[in-house]
Amino acid sequence: MDSMLIAGAWSGSSDGGLRPVRNPATGAELAQLAYGGPSEAVAACDAAAAAFGPWSRVGPADRAALLQRTADNLADRADEIGALLAAETGKRRPEGVAEIEFAAAYFRWFAEEARRPHGEMLAGRRPGERQFTISRPAGVAVCLSPWNFPVSIQARKLAPALAAGCTAVSRASEQAPLAVIEMFRCLVDAGVPDGVVNLVLGPAAAQTDAMLTHPAVRVVSFTGSTEVGRALLARAGERVVRPLMELGGDAPFVVLDDADVAAAVDGAMIAKFRNNGQSCIAANRFIVQRRIYDDFCRQLAERVNAMSLGDPLDDPVPDLGPLINQRRVDEVTAIAAEAEAAGARRITAAIAAPSGGSFCAPALYDQVPPDARLARSEAFGPIAGVFPVDSDDDALALANDTEMGLAAYVYTRDVGRAWRFTEELDAGIIGCNNPLPSAAHAPMGGVKQSGLGREGAHAGLEEFRETHYASWAL
Ligand code: NAD
Repeated sequence: MDSMLIAGAWSGSSDGGLRPVRNPATGAELAQLAYGGPSEAVAACDAAAAAFGPWSRVGPADRAALLQRTADNLADRADEIGALLAAETGKRRPEGVAEIEFAAAYFRWFAEEARRPHGEMLAGRRPGERQFTISRPAGVAVCLSPWNFPVSIQARKLAPALAAGCTAVSRASEQAPLAVIEMFRCLVDAGVPDGVVNLVLGPAAAQTDAMLTHPAVRVVSFTGSTEVGRALLARAGERVVRPLMELGGDAPFVVLDDADVAAAVDGAMIAKFRNNGQSCIAANRFIVQRRIYDDFCRQLAERVNAMSLGDPLDDPVPDLGPLINQRRVDEVTAIAAEAEAAGARRITAAIAAPSGGSFCAPALYDQVPPDARLARSEAFGPIAGVFPVDSDDDALALANDTEMGLAAYVYTRDVGRAWRFTEELDAGIIGCNNPLPSAAHAPMGGVKQSGLGREGAHAGLEEFRETHYASWAL
């Protein structure tokens, strides 16, 4: 099957061998894909470098039209690509379809943003002096994405890169490449010129190394774990390639004692279990004030105990699908087992996970020791600890006691407390009484070790542009 797009040509065979893509709900093979190596990465960068000059001179209105057509193609095929995405990742079918629609929303937002004026007239210092800025596309952008939202995250990188006038080389995660390939078909069907977008598959470190040492590459936009992000930052530093890093999370979900507890429980179910718990902005620690602690735990445990697990393509749609692979199940299970061995108490029922796929039962714990991994790291699965606190100060201190800072949530009906937590939570994204803060027009990114830079919104476009300042004496 054609799997890589280089210089406008699809390639279905290469030196990197064939690899299967499996459905995590059943273990069934969905496809055999051809993989490349570093030479495909270099060829893709060469193609993007050759296409850069002509593409950077295409007017914004024409760039916008291409992005709009891509969005239309994605929207037209959302049901079909969304089902494929559900099959390869295990996400529930409606979430798969919603992700394709979200990817289309990024193409639409950046199509519109491409037309906005950019540059600034400055006040000259003396008569006859004219000072101003113009902005130019940065060059070839490398777009590296994970498996958990493989399509919308690639779209969040590609759409602004193309809108800014950059050309791109993308690498999809080997865990979930099929729907990403379809997104590239939507770009090709929309008429993207040869070499403007390129897609490779293959060994992660070797291919990204080849990309980051290519002389035309000026931007690397990566979404994935903090560990890999650190290695890429070091590599990018060698050639002073501009990094945009969207890394790991550890989101606190704070429920203050004036909150609407039922609404907080509804929000917790979404913030924790969307994408089977494998979202970078997933609620990772529930921090709940003592006056409502028992009520919140009881209501949330009841909801978790009633969850159905199954194939995400089934009808009716189950509440929880499988994790991406057995390695993730083993990791999540180990985090839970360590916490239990250290004294944590499971407050949900022992739920049986279906066999035949990489399923993981949901579970909530209290009395989690503060040094347990469940309290200190991203679980990236359907488990979490619940932590009681007495005061607002204690809630803030515990919420911020992490090296991560991607998202944070707070539930309260008091506007003063809402302001305080919004201003004092150390996170790039705050959901106040809102478990779904992401939007194409909103900036997405983290503080501390959760990343550098912002995607989405106008800020997302600027990551792919350079500001040039000019001072004229007339
Ligand atoms: P990962 O870092 O293992 O992989 C991400 C991508 O990098 C994949 O395509 C993978 O093939 C590639 N990769 C792996 N090792 C590499 C190496 N040594 N050199 C170069 N590339 C390499 O992450 P993952 O397991 O795919 O995704 C989960 C992580 O991503 C979680 O930590 C999650 O929080 C984070 N994430 C962050 C965001 C965000 O917007 N901040 C969004 C989604 C996921």
